[in-house]
Amino acid sequence: MVEEGKNAPVQEPRKLNFLEEIIESDLKAGKFDSIITRFPPEPNGYLHLGHAKSICINFGLAQKYGGKTNLRFDDTNPTKEDTEYVDSIKEDIRWMGFSWENERYASDYFDQLYEWAEQMILNGQAYVDDQTQEEISKGRGTIDRPGTESPYRNRSVEENLRIFREMKAGKYADGEKVLRAKIDMASPNMMFRDPILYRIKHASHHRTGDKWCIYPMYDYTHGQCDSIEKITHSICTLEFDVHRPLYDWFIQTLGIYPSHQYEFARLNLTYTLMSKRKLLELVQKGLVSGWDDPRMPTLCGVRRRGYTAEALKMFCEKIGVSKRDQMMDIQLLEWCVRQDLNARSNRYMVVQKPLKVTLTNWEPGKVEWFDCPLNPAEPEGATRKVPFTGELYIEREDFMEEAPKKFFRLKPDGEVRLKYTYIIRCNEVVKDENGEVVELRCTYDPSTRPGCGEWRSVKGTIHWVSTEYARAITIRNYDRLFLKEDMNSIPEDKDYKDYLNPESLTQGKGLAEPALLEDKSGIAVQFERTGYYIIDKDSAGDNVIFNKTTSLKDSYRPE
Ligand code: ATP
Ligand code: MG
Repeated sequence: MVEEGKNAPVQEPRKLNFLEEIIESDLKAGKFDSIITRFPPEPNGYLHLGHAKSICINFGLAQKYGGKTNLRFDDTNPTKEDTEYVDSIKEDIRWMGFSWENERYASDYFDQLYEWAEQMILNGQAYVDDQTQEEISKGRGTIDRPGTESPYRNRSVEENLRIFREMKAGKYADGEKVLRAKIDMASPNMMFRDPILYRIKHASHHRTGDKWCIYPMYDYTHGQCDSIEKITHSICTLEFDVHRPLYDWFIQTLGIYPSHQYEFARLNLTYTLMSKRKLLELVQKGLVSGWDDPRMPTLCGVRRRGYTAEALKMFCEKIGVSKRDQMMDIQLLEWCVRQDLNARSNRYMVVQKPLKVTLTNWEPGKVEWFDCPLNPAEPEGATRKVPFTGELYIEREDFMEEAPKKFFRLKPDGEVRLKYTYIIRCNEVVKDENGEVVELRCTYDPSTRPGCGEWRSVKGTIHWVSTEYARAITIRNYDRLFLKEDMNSIPEDKDYKDYLNPESLTQGKGLAEPALLEDKSGIAVQFERTGYYIIDKDSAGDNVIFNKTTSLKDSYRPE
């Protein structure tokens, strides 16, 4: 949670969303003692910001109403799935601060699903079809034209059972046969035109190994798994609303626990792509450094970028749950990140484009250590020690030789306060042979030390570091990975990769006060007056690397 304090965002009470309304009315009507939800990722990639929304909804609702959430891996597609993904998904959910009641896999239920398939065959509700993929698609018809029945539709129960068992035993090659439900080839709902239940796939599964060479389809799997786990509210994204009648049909036909499906709008973000398939392509083609490249919208990517789970949850709460697809502004997410980090992150001074300042009246060799607050939002909080010496670096852009009237930082014969310390005056500008400013010769006013004597104020305060104590760091500055605002509407003749931002990563340098390298907060820190940055795992020895999380300020304000 965001700590209370002057920077904590004001939480206004809000109206119930439609899912909360459904759950409250179900609980009031006594339909359930408590609710059970599930989060059902397919382990074929890393979780992204869209999944964070689903996680917040599924785990958040259970938390709010004293219920439970299962983590169920939807692992019915052996060729695309892997334990690497299973592990990363679990890590990401834990990082979000949620824990699941049970860890389950659709593959845990393969035996039960197979048994139900035989039962459907025995009841004349399923048949083996020998048609090719193309013939089956063609036979499905269109929205305005009914489908045509397969020539294999009226096989006897015995024949269907025999062939289905042979399919399971590995007698047939991939694609040779499928098991289909026998429903209605003229149904106005295309989903009911004899959907496929099982296909043959001679592939090793990350959990069941080579036990199976037939695998159940999504529609035949999902509702039954929900039912087995007695999920009360099965919450998924809008594109599944057309599947809901079939979800209900399987549950009714098999006469099992009546789970119900509810749909909400998926998260779309400006300048962002959230499709595991495309994110995988970026990784495989080396267009990013990996799934956790800080420019990626994956949870491990944004984590490495310095986004916090608290900020993500704040964002999900702000965007709410709706039944209409909408595009959310990535700036709202960045705003949430700033809100959270502003309240919690430690402050340090780092100069990125240094200009040397020499204090001509400073006693040579003298070092003065200042106790500076780590986070000004907590006035009684911890401090860090910052060394002040007679030779310092300031930011080049904090000095101007020909300064306009409103420039309140350092200029010839002008004064500025060096943050936490003294007011200095610039007496002399030293240039090299090219006319470039290389040094400012200044004097400091000892009477302006904070807490000593009378407080004298000047308009400008700038950050600085001692040249003697400065520690060199590398800074990775990140910008948007894509240049197009709506990455969901790419013209036919274009590829999403055409919109990659060639300047999404630029490298810079910094000179940091020494305490930065001792920071133990584990979250992004604020480089004062600049932005938020987090140490990167690529740091080794003297090569210390910081990733830019986000800038300090932005004109964006949420509505
Ligand atoms: P992708 O299209 O990126 O591959 P997916 O929907 O195939 O995503 P799953 O692993 O099947 O990924 O998703 C797990 C859960 O997360 C599902 O309930 C799905 O509806 C939800 N989800 C996926 N993407 C989003 C999104 N952009 N916004 C909200 N929920 C999402
Ligand atoms: Mg999916």
